Amino acid sequence: MDRISMKTPLVEMDGDEMTRILWQMIKDELLTPYIDLKTEYYDLGLRYRNETDDRVTVDSANATKKYGVAVKCATITPNAARVEEYDLKKMWKSPNGTIRSILNGTVFRTPIIVKGIVPCVRNWKEPITIARHAYGDIYSNSEMKIDEKGKAELIFTDADGNERRSLIHEFDENGGVIQGIHNVTPSIESFARSCFNYALDQKKDLWFGAKDTISKSYDHHFKDIFNEIFEKEYKNKFEESGIEYFYSLIDDIVARVMKSKGGMIWACKNYDGDVMSDMISSAFGSLAMMTSVLVSPSGVYEYEAAHGTVQRHYYKHLKGEETSTNSVATIFAWTGALKKRGELDDIPELIKFAKKLEQSTIQTIESGYMTKDLAMITEMDEIVTLSSLDFIKAVRKTLETYI
Ligand code: NAP
Ligand code: MG
Repeated sequence: MDRISMKTPLVEMDGDEMTRILWQMIKDELLTPYIDLKTEYYDLGLRYRNETDDRVTVDSANATKKYGVAVKCATITPNAARVEEYDLKKMWKSPNGTIRSILNGTVFRTPIIVKGIVPCVRNWKEPITIARHAYGDIYSNSEMKIDEKGKAELIFTDADGNERRSLIHEFDENGGVIQGIHNVTPSIESFARSCFNYALDQKKDLWFGAKDTISKSYDHHFKDIFNEIFEKEYKNKFEESGIEYFYSLIDDIVARVMKSKGGMIWACKNYDGDVMSDMISSAFGSLAMMTSVLVSPSGVYEYEAAHGTVQRHYYKHLKGEETSTNSVATIFAWTGALKKRGELDDIPELIKFAKKLEQSTIQTIESGYMTKDLAMITEMDEIVTLSSLDFIKAVRKTLETYI
């Protein structure tokens, strides 16, 4: 059989631990037998990041800007224990943080749904995608604990030294707490554009909620920016695609999401996204079934699994023990990237192949063949629990029936 040719290279970001092992298995079993894979390879494994003083992460992000599509393996974000384990020159920053700040993008997380693994919320029939604004608010705050009588004020000083003041609270001797937070207009605008673009890309409705009735300047600014950009740049395109942009108060949005059948993209302010993405992934079943894509406002895409490097399984693997690590989200990172590359380069066979690989993965699970994490939560009766490699081989067997 002729392998599918590619035109533009895909930016390939390799990673760490168990997911690095899965990465190679996926390439060997599910990709290179069928595609003449053209990638520009960057090794984001912690050893090589350390060797290059993390230059490789920056280079991979710049390559993504240049080519437009990347696929990324999970990577270690070093902490003190990792500095010792890998004898690091320093505690390098999170690669995802570095890539996100270079691409200025928004992360969209979507669960992969299979029959037999039923969401806790029984009316959710379609995946709910969470878009989290990953800049500012309480994540870059300034806080104080007050334990005496006094006045707290918000003060803004302009370039000429003029001050604007607003009273926060007059504390009595019992004290309390205060917090200052901020966001910047360009970041909110980028967030809005990434969300509108991704909604068009996915042909899904976009919902956004904030608390503008209470927060009349802060949250209202978010609401206004979304509205203005939508009216000026996206309204017609949304109408043509038959999708909707819907704004409401955050509590109303939460209530509606719970009663919905799913299927929307839910844009969240930073804190809401932090909280709601964990709720959505646990309600849909497993972190191992969550895909993640970073979308820049200019339309650059970086696909990955939402989970980490699965360290505990890796240590078992190193001891020569068999692992049963779920590769589904990593497989879908590859298919997402291949579909996007196929779309941009007009290679219909590549898109078709990626879709078949997704179907084969789902069908394999729905026929009862799965890894241990899913075996523990499925409602199916007759199941076969497979090792990491045997699951990938089972997907290949299903894929062969399509090709
Ligand atoms: P994790 O790798 O996501 O794993 C946490 C636990 O969730 C695992 O121990 C495992 O549970 C389960 N799990 C996650 N993915 C699974 C899969 N594919 N198949 C089966 N089970 C899965 O999170 P972590 O242990 O907190 O972090 C490990 C490393 O990953 C850290 O160094 C962190 O910096 C990094 N990380 C990277 C990214 C990224 O690159 N995007 C994201 C998050 C974390 P059991 O052990 O109970 O089987
Ligand atoms: Mg969280």
